[in-house]
Amino acid sequence: MTLRTDGIIIREQTTGEQDRLVTVLTRDMGLIKAFVNGGRNPKNKNVSATDLLCYADYTIDKTKKDVYIIKEATAKQVFFNLRNDITNLSLAQYLAELARDFSPKEERCDEFLSLLLNSLHLLCTGTKSDLLIKTVTELRYCCIAGFMPSIVGCNSCGEYEKGSMYLNPKKGTLFCESCNTDTEGVKLTAGMLYALRHICFSTPDKIYSFSLGEDSLLALGAITERYVKSLTFKQYKTLDFYKTMRSI
Ligand SMILES: [Zn+2]
Repeated sequence: MTLRTDGIIIREQTTGEQDRLVTVLTRDMGLIKAFVNGGRNPKNKNVSATDLLCYADYTIDKTKKDVYIIKEATAKQVFFNLRNDITNLSLAQYLAELARDFSPKEERCDEFLSLLLNSLHLLCTGTKSDLLIKTVTELRYCCIAGFMPSIVGCNSCGEYEKGSMYLNPKKGTLFCESCNTDTEGVKLTAGMLYALRHICFSTPDKIYSFSLGEDSLLALGAITERYVKSLTFKQYKTLDFYKTMRSI
């Protein structure tokens, strides 16, 4: 069976002397692992379109044993600028890892794919801060995978906003000042609470459209990071490297 879809390479591994195995986040079939025959031969015309973080149109054969093989690849966007900046590149690799951890298999993945493509595009253009891109993408991946934190109102009394609000970054639960008894609750500034709700409830085209001071953004980013880790149980080396480079 031959399939045609667009997608982005989010992981690459070498297998044998000539072949590569890549993980592709495809629009039509979600996450798939596929071989690129002759993928280590630089003369192979499909090589550059199957590099890490390359977005391309793919023609993929699915064998009777459910093995996927990329037959043709035509690059649509290579995010070349990312390779000029090691900090942005490490963040991009981390976001690709999130895409791998949160995206489903064997089903359409429009929103998962768009989220990664948009975040990489913004990283390349430099029109939004990398911290904002990181925080939005982390939280939004949790949301679209079905793990939106419970932030409409206080999880006890239901108030939308009452005094200072506290969020448990592991459970994603929100409490007002009167109801909060959670020792792990992190106090939110009004800006942080607004940003949290904006990221969770906005339409996909609006999620990056807000501003927040660097201190609040750092504090919010620490929360979204902990929330991601509470769901994936992973320590991300790419994230650690990004934070080292960023001195945060
Ligand atoms: Zn309350």
